[in-house]
Amino acid sequence: DEALLRLKEVSKSYSIRRGLFGERKTLTAVKSVDLALARGEVLGLVGESGCGKSTLAKILLGLEAPTSGDVLVGGQALAGQDRTKLARRIQPIFQDPYSSLNPRKTVFDIVSLPLRIHGIGDGPSRQKRVTEILDIVGLSKRVTRAFPNQLSGGQRQRVAIARALVMKPEIVVCDEPTSALDVSVQSQILNLLSELRREFGLTYLFISHDLAVVQHLATRVAVMYLGRIVEEAGVDELFETPRHPYTRALLDSVLTPDASLGVPDTELGAAFPNPIDPPSGCAFHPRCPKRFAPCDHEFPPTVPTKNGGFVECHLYRERAGASQ
Ligand code: SF4
Ligand code: MG
Repeated sequence: DEALLRLKEVSKSYSIRRGLFGERKTLTAVKSVDLALARGEVLGLVGESGCGKSTLAKILLGLEAPTSGDVLVGGQALAGQDRTKLARRIQPIFQDPYSSLNPRKTVFDIVSLPLRIHGIGDGPSRQKRVTEILDIVGLSKRVTRAFPNQLSGGQRQRVAIARALVMKPEIVVCDEPTSALDVSVQSQILNLLSELRREFGLTYLFISHDLAVVQHLATRVAVMYLGRIVEEAGVDELFETPRHPYTRALLDSVLTPDASLGVPDTELGAAFPNPIDPPSGCAFHPRCPKRFAPCDHEFPPTVPTKNGGFVECHLYRERAGASQ
């Protein structure tokens, strides 16, 4: 298995009660997802909020167990892997540096915590490693004694990046790492992530609702809708030849001035559906401008495309038949 990270048929459901005596309902946040990440790749995972992308991130970080399916890191099942070994393989950077950094701890404490948790090095060597990693992410030695509230948003995200990299991981899972930041700071952080990738040969899973951000960084893109990956393609191919109607709608919204606000409902017709009560057939059918006879009752086929990509849509089903 060449993949550094692989998801096989991964699903995650939650049981949810509506009100105190309400009936229990099942919310399936991730539905039978297959995904592979090769070394050095940046896989962009895009979709609207509520599509399951953060749940997927938590599953592959080992923060949540899948309801079914397998997560393999370095060819081995994630469940049961040695925690320190795993921390050296995969680290997260989350969206909000305000809430993900402990306000009562200094930058030194925050960045050195993974080393202390995993018993790596002694006092002086940790000090050295923290200073080194802060320098790498563009923070001066002076911030070591600062608390998060004394730093700007961009500085805080640099601290979060330093904390992720202090363990020298192979894979970094970035969940909307720039969406809480000002636009000018966003591009600095994206450039930094890009430089770090080149310098240290990192592999990223880059989660974002913003296709423009993904285009900047990703080598491959997976588009997620209501818990399913509905299209996957190389980044240039996806932007030049988007196949799934949802991908096309997302791309159209990139071209509107309000792209940062996500997908405007006006472009997609109906609003994002309730994941507790997903539409039948193709889950995208109530919003799809291309829907036709089978879409509201038949689950669409997964149709292979170029270079290991695929699209899950009835529009391409003849090709699905032809390739079998
Ligand atoms: Fe649209 Fe039908 Fe394709 Fe779903 S399967 S995206 S409804 S055309
Ligand atoms: Mg999210």
